[in-house]
Amino acid sequence: MLKAGIVGLPNVGKSTLFNALTRSRKAEAANYPFCTIDPNVGVVTVPDERAYVLQKIAKTNVVIPAAMEFVDIAGLVKGASQGEGLGNQFLANIRETDAIVHVVRCFEDGDILHTMGNVDPVRDIEVITTELILADLDAVTKRIDKTQKKAKSGDKEAIIEIALLERLKPHLNENKPANILPATDDEKKLLNLFQLLSAKPVIYACNVAESDLATAEQNPFVQKVAEFVKAHHEAAYVPISARIEAELIDLSPEEAKGFLKDLGVDDSGVSTLIRATYTLLGLQTYFTAGEKEVRAWTIKKGWKAPQAAGVIHTDFEKGFIKAEVVSYADLTRLGSTAAAREAGKYRIEGKEYVFQDGDVTLFRFNN
Ligand code: GDP
Repeated sequence: MLKAGIVGLPNVGKSTLFNALTRSRKAEAANYPFCTIDPNVGVVTVPDERAYVLQKIAKTNVVIPAAMEFVDIAGLVKGASQGEGLGNQFLANIRETDAIVHVVRCFEDGDILHTMGNVDPVRDIEVITTELILADLDAVTKRIDKTQKKAKSGDKEAIIEIALLERLKPHLNENKPANILPATDDEKKLLNLFQLLSAKPVIYACNVAESDLATAEQNPFVQKVAEFVKAHHEAAYVPISARIEAELIDLSPEEAKGFLKDLGVDDSGVSTLIRATYTLLGLQTYFTAGEKEVRAWTIKKGWKAPQAAGVIHTDFEKGFIKAEVVSYADLTRLGSTAAAREAGKYRIEGKEYVFQDGDVTLFRFNN
């Protein structure tokens, strides 16, 4: 399962967000900088209304949504790459994730200590990014030492690798994250092997005060993050209110709706954040739908039919024969499997078929 790590300076609302995300109280949210010592892992379902539309067509009681893992990673402080705070452990935990959700504080509250003195989300982004870059610089320097010997002995792969590393090092030295290094597709694959922290896709979660969520885009702190994201061609930012989401946990769905309505919003921002993280990772969904269940399966964009089938079971990939596929749009427009078949909308696709987001499918395979 793909994993997103929640990072940020202490007291920005990471644990509150994590609790809200996973609907659990595992991570302790407290007004104390190092309260989250162990990384807490939680499984989060990806909100997708389409599964419930298909449920009606398939006439089943069971819906299994797509899921991702979120990890609450212990608070980072300036100097983590030198071992400050929980530095090294923090960095090792980030290394295991596929994407980073970087929470920045965009709420003012005199009672809640800000470890950097005042609210300034762009400075906070830079503090954390610098720590990631410094850790990468260390890793890259070590890798250069190791690879140089091999390159000198004529190892072709090592020669290619060293060329990339030697471009990367000055780039990091200029305090630029690895994810904005101009690189060819082959080089990007190589970069993946280095497992660099600053190469991971990042999304900024701007944690605003409850009263600011409805007008978050006008919040001056959110606006600063928006400008930063634009100027650095970074992936995305999403305004959220971790507190609102945390308050929803104990409410019934009806109560939650009313509560959000009173605040002038449809969502705490967390559903948008989960979906944005899913998209950031280049993920998409296909469905299987039958009497037993409707289920959303997660694949990467561009995957072909056998690989997509392999998500259900490795035997499906090995023994793949063909897939019967209908698009979500056709199936829901026609309203039933029978009508979609009659209209000739079910296609038989072979091994070269590239799965599309929302495809509804049935696989044929050899045991
Ligand atoms: P972490 O250190 O980043 O994990 O931060 P926590 O989630 O533990 O939050 C630190 C403190 O800030 C807790 O007392 C939270 O209740 C509080 N907090 C989190 N989000 C908000 C918010 O949107 N507004 C206010 N006023 N306090 C918040």
